[in-house]
Amino acid sequence: MTSIRAIKGFKDILPGETELFARSIGEATDIVEKEMYTFTDRSGDLLTMRPEATAAVVRAYLQHKIYAQDPIQKYYTIGPMFRRERPQKGRYRQFYQINAEIFGVASPYADVQLIVMLVELLGRLGVTDAKPHVNSLGCPACRPDYRRALLDFLASREARLCPDCLRRRETNPLRILDCKVPRCRETSLEAPELAAFLCPECRTHFDTLQQALDELGIAYVIDKRLVRGLDYYSRTTFEIQTTALGAQSAVAGGGRYDGLVKTLGGPDIPATGFAIGFDRLAEIVAAERQIEPAVPKVFIAALGAEAQARAFPWLTALNRRGIAAEMLFEDKSLKSLMKRAGKLGARHVLIIGENELAADTGQLRNMATREQTPLALERVVEELQQRFRETV
Ligand code: AMP
Repeated sequence: MTSIRAIKGFKDILPGETELFARSIGEATDIVEKEMYTFTDRSGDLLTMRPEATAAVVRAYLQHKIYAQDPIQKYYTIGPMFRRERPQKGRYRQFYQINAEIFGVASPYADVQLIVMLVELLGRLGVTDAKPHVNSLGCPACRPDYRRALLDFLASREARLCPDCLRRRETNPLRILDCKVPRCRETSLEAPELAAFLCPECRTHFDTLQQALDELGIAYVIDKRLVRGLDYYSRTTFEIQTTALGAQSAVAGGGRYDGLVKTLGGPDIPATGFAIGFDRLAEIVAAERQIEPAVPKVFIAALGAEAQARAFPWLTALNRRGIAAEMLFEDKSLKSLMKRAGKLGARHVLIIGENELAADTGQLRNMATREQTPLALERVVEELQQRFRETV
């Protein structure tokens, strides 16, 4: 097996190779079969725009032999992903994900930690209807029995399956359980349940996961349709669903991929992780609460070139200190500068024109009360900082 390395000239933050994704996501998945943006670059190398992050993180973990220092590693990544899907609300061809991965921990508590992180994040963002859906996929020891039982069940129902599912029977039969075509859904409702086929180790893993969630008071749904069809996915799989986005109900998804590190040529190291859809998250948050646009605390109305030259360093200094300040670098009348400040919703306007420069004293106007206070220009940044600290 050839070892897969980062693309020449790419820092490990943005890796990705076709073979890597085919091997790690699986040849028989929608992503690899239909959705990858793959092209030959000018030097003839075959490249793929990454459709997900996990494969790339595992590749880096292996290439740099990080496991040799300490197999237990926790990573996060944030960035754009690319899939040639049919675009609709909540589904884009370029979208962003926040990923988290835990390597080297086989315990179900690591899965629970990830679910808790997601619930916590969504809670803090004010998303009230997000619910974890969980399932267990078993492991290479028990899943083949289930696969056989599923195929036996489907054998007499071929006529009811969509063309994709007929194909999936050969390549990836578990995926039939999450097919969205209504007839396939109806058919698979009566299918045998994976839970009944779990080996004792997988059963214990799943029970412990549920007990831990119960203990933490996290409500969840056991969802037998939550599947991934590839052998290196094992045991826990989960999704966080909301009703806020219509058909695209999943805001995050994840689970255990204990076999992937080995599949990509590394040692037998368990791993678990999740991906949040950043775009969906933003849409849900926007739907659930009004987000006020940021308004400047102070607008600097500097009249003329000399005043602008004097005031520009203040603008930079205020911004550096975390005070939202704005300024217009144009020769405008006081009236139009005030209009601009009003449009931005600035709370205060610092006025400096010829007179103020001569007196070394600016005027700070409170836009709400229209009160004006003189401000010594020498100490303008410190003064403003002090004032705004008091009024935060
Ligand atoms: P996946 O990598 O397919 O398990 O997806 C993880 C999460 O990424 C999903 O729960 C979605 O929130 C998000 N996601 C996946 N595909 C898309 C897409 N095409 N557009 C926007 N978000 C997506």
